[in-house]
Amino acid sequence: MSHYTVACASCGLRWQKPGSLSAYEGQSVESRPCPSCGAYTLGCAEVRPAARGRRSAERPRRAAA
Ligand SMILES: [Zn+2]
Repeated sequence: MSHYTVACASCGLRWQKPGSLSAYEGQSVESRPCPSCGAYTLGCAEVRPAARGRRSAERPRRAAA
């Protein structure tokens, strides 16, 4: 089962929600106010498993070879 992270750009609150992040889910989340500070600055991102343990300086980019 996948899940995604919802984060508030205003106060920094973040939490995880179960389910897959569809376009509908994204819009639904972003149209709601933050439960903590009430700002409409929520954003969501998919949680990628196996993303931990990597060197933070190493950010693979999708660039042309
Ligand atoms: Zn907030």
